[in-house]
Amino acid sequence: MGSYLIKNVRVFDAIDDSAYPGEVLIEGNKIKAVARGRDQFGLDNAAEVIDGEGQFLMPGMVEGHCHLSFVGPARNQDLGEIPPEEHLLRTCRNATFILNHGFTSCYSAASAKLRLDVVVRQEIEDGYLAGPRYRAAGPEITVTGGLGDERKQHMHAESFGMIADGADEIRRAVRICCREGVDNLKFNVSGDEFVGHARAEVVSLSLEELTAGVETAHDWGKKVACHSRAAESVKRAVRAGVDCIYHCDFADEEALDMLESVKDRVFVGPAFGLVHNSVFEGDVVGLTRDVVERMGLPRKLEHTIRTYHEMRKRGMRVVVGGDYGFTVTPMGQNARDIGHFVKFFGYSPAEALKCATAVGGKLMGFDDELGVIKAGALADLLLVDADPLLDQSVLVGPDHFMMIMKDGDIHKDPRSRHDNYQLRQGGHSSRLATGPAPL
Ligand SMILES: [Zn+2]
Repeated sequence: MGSYLIKNVRVFDAIDDSAYPGEVLIEGNKIKAVARGRDQFGLDNAAEVIDGEGQFLMPGMVEGHCHLSFVGPARNQDLGEIPPEEHLLRTCRNATFILNHGFTSCYSAASAKLRLDVVVRQEIEDGYLAGPRYRAAGPEITVTGGLGDERKQHMHAESFGMIADGADEIRRAVRICCREGVDNLKFNVSGDEFVGHARAEVVSLSLEELTAGVETAHDWGKKVACHSRAAESVKRAVRAGVDCIYHCDFADEEALDMLESVKDRVFVGPAFGLVHNSVFEGDVVGLTRDVVERMGLPRKLEHTIRTYHEMRKRGMRVVVGGDYGFTVTPMGQNARDIGHFVKFFGYSPAEALKCATAVGGKLMGFDDELGVIKAGALADLLLVDADPLLDQSVLVGPDHFMMIMKDGDIHKDPRSRHDNYQLRQGGHSSRLATGPAPL
């Protein structure tokens, strides 16, 4: 961590809608000053100068629905079959991989095993592992028969679920997660298309159970996220005081009104990548056209699109993050969701970029100090050699990131362009060029 003057860049600060020529002064882990125009700051001896060569400078991206420990399963229960040792190593690999893809912050939407997120977060915070700022979650707290309960009457099986029935067991599950050091709790309030016995419009968790869980988590100072696809599950989440409500695909008028009434308190996230890839690119996991139709996924896709047009109109705080980490949604594609916001939900490119930066920063709990470029904000920055306001796909890294800075530290240095070039040509083997191994 030092002092840097980043000159000759187009600054997208995630406050304005457009990028302007400017320069940014970094001191320690914060942005000290931002200026419009060229040569505004004198060449301070203390600052190393980075010439941005006219490229696009933007805040580091925030993955708002992240599963670092989802290491490529085709089926949910595959996650339960990976031994903890391998699982931890692969989760570490994902942490570095996602930072290389421009995500300097990740809000976990569940850990596949209780302590995976927690130990990975700690390893990053202690400086031993390159990875994003990370809010660690526990497993998905669910009830018997809900999403995440993989057991059969004749056979034990597990995936990412932590099963608890009734308010007392839910409180106990939350307390165990808190004891083990999570930052976020996750509850599965509705089912999902991928669960034969509890489809998306089944509401599995009772209001009493959810309220008990949220109150306990809040008593411990934790944030709560939930999986809510059915309309009633969205309403239940609002009533129980959940902080971040994922999916909301089948929200009806009443659910949307309820969400709007708490829009300054609540975040929502479509996790659209999984819906999109399952419908359009599902062949890799046997989701043929026929299967997709039978599962009702095209209908769900339509509902999601309609719902998020409404979310945008109503000024909801919508975060980017698409349930990446499954075989059908490979880690590293995460930034595709920014383009999806533009193409499917009617967002302008600048609005979509703000969802991936400024809104995400608030979700991470930093208010106006993360995900924006302004004096006093944390120095998480990306230098991009293309214009994401014209084409959001350039953010699907890592090739277009000339610089990745997290907390004032340069993770990828624009001054080593030669290396980067060789890397893209396959001349070096590096973690930057190789993704996590398939399961
Ligand atoms: Zn998820």
